[in-house]
Amino acid sequence: MRRNSSLISQDADVFEDTSVSRVQVYVRIRPIVQGDVTSITRKGAVSVEATDLTQVRVADGKKEKIFQFDQVLPPEASNAEVYQVVGKPLVEASMTGLNSILMAYGQTGAGKTHTLMASADGLTTSVVSHIFALIGKDAAHSYAVTCSYLQIYQERVYDLLASEKSGTEVFLREHPKKGVYVENLSEYSVKSPEEIVRLLKSGKRRLAVAETKMNRQSSRLLPAEEVTSLATVSDKNSWGKDQTLFFSFSCDLAGSERVKKTKAAGERLQEAQSINSSLLELGNVIQALAEGTRRHIPYRNSVLTRLLQDGLDGNSKTSLIVCVSPSFRDVNETLCSLKFGLRAMKIHNVAQVNVNEVSRIFKKRK
Ligand code: ADP
Ligand code: MG
Repeated sequence: MRRNSSLISQDADVFEDTSVSRVQVYVRIRPIVQGDVTSITRKGAVSVEATDLTQVRVADGKKEKIFQFDQVLPPEASNAEVYQVVGKPLVEASMTGLNSILMAYGQTGAGKTHTLMASADGLTTSVVSHIFALIGKDAAHSYAVTCSYLQIYQERVYDLLASEKSGTEVFLREHPKKGVYVENLSEYSVKSPEEIVRLLKSGKRRLAVAETKMNRQSSRLLPAEEVTSLATVSDKNSWGKDQTLFFSFSCDLAGSERVKKTKAAGERLQEAQSINSSLLELGNVIQALAEGTRRHIPYRNSVLTRLLQDGLDGNSKTSLIVCVSPSFRDVNETLCSLKFGLRAMKIHNVAQVNVNEVSRIFKKRK
């Protein structure tokens, strides 16, 4: 396998265009860790194929499959490099007044938390730090940044910055003008990246307490959807829009494979299935948007899709990082995750696509 000396592919200029076109889909392969099943040559089941870093190859020992994405981040890519490829364009989008959404998707253990929430250099922290840096340079305007942190578990929403040590249940409401919002969700006004890091850390502690309380830790194999953070930046003067949103979340892949593997039964099985069905709804929404012809998009069927509605069909830049494991043991989950990513790549917002972007994407695909 050869790779470019730089992780930024030759087509990096595509990312500088902040016009809304389609969901950008990246695949991140985590490094081999203890317990992974590799071949005798110590190679994993998943590798980056083309030198332009857009193809990923999956081998299950019998067959091989090649998938094409916007960019593949190899196991040796650091969080700082992932920020350059995935995070920076989102910051640029935020600064032009677009909402930006960063999603991580994949099976448990594939590297979602490492990617989004690593304390020192996780993408959520890096994105917010860079927003602060840009705001700091703009002496002509004043900005307000607020931060919230919540978890969705079994269709219920928990405020992870509430005063209770294990978070508080909060509820979705719909406002005729504001749209869908979370009532009474804690919103902290923040002045520096350090404050965000501190808040996210305290939220993570509440998450851990909640998991112990609800016995979730022991069912670690069961997937959970987790909206990790939500930052809003507002300034009435410069962006022609009074608020822009940065929303990052991670979502565990759930599938029949996993339920079988965990030998879930009774209550646990029910739990797994309920999480399955809500993720299914995200898949359904993505599918309906991808077809581009359906008038009814089934946003209302789950909390996650209701929260994401504005982001998925509105004036937003959305990026998805599909996190995959290199282990042969995980090949089925890896294939499921990659197929989800391929569907997400088809989401277009036709009305907003400009001609340059189309021709460049077309060139890239040839
Ligand atoms: P997930 O959130 O998808 O369940 P984690 O982010 O918790 O997965 O990752 C599982 C384990 O693998 C953790 O111990 C994490 O530190 C490690 N890991 C994941 N991705 C990387 C990476 N890119 N580099 C080093 N370690 C990683
Ligand atoms: Mg995680």
